Amino acid sequence: MAEVKVVAERCKSCGYCIKFCKKNVLAFGKKVNSKGYEYVEPVHMEDCVGCCSCARICPDGAIEIYK
Ligand code: SF4
Ligand code: SF4
Repeated sequence: MAEVKVVAERCKSCGYCIKFCKKNVLAFGKKVNSKGYEYVEPVHMEDCVGCCSCARICPDGAIEIYK
């Protein structure tokens, strides 16, 4: 099983990672970062298969995967 970490301050709420995760692991959270963006959080971490699609698609390098 993999662990996904979103670096909140790098996220700009573009939603690409949410769209590209086929397992629906990610969603916008209710908290905002210092720039005012509702950053993404893992909401179904148990379903993550560690494919790294989210990390590859993120234009801001905000997602780190640990296996
Ligand atoms: S590593 Fe793959 S399954 Fe896990 S959150 Fe990212 S896109 Fe989804
Ligand atoms: S792709 Fe990156 S910047 Fe866009 S919502 Fe996901 S974590 Fe945030």
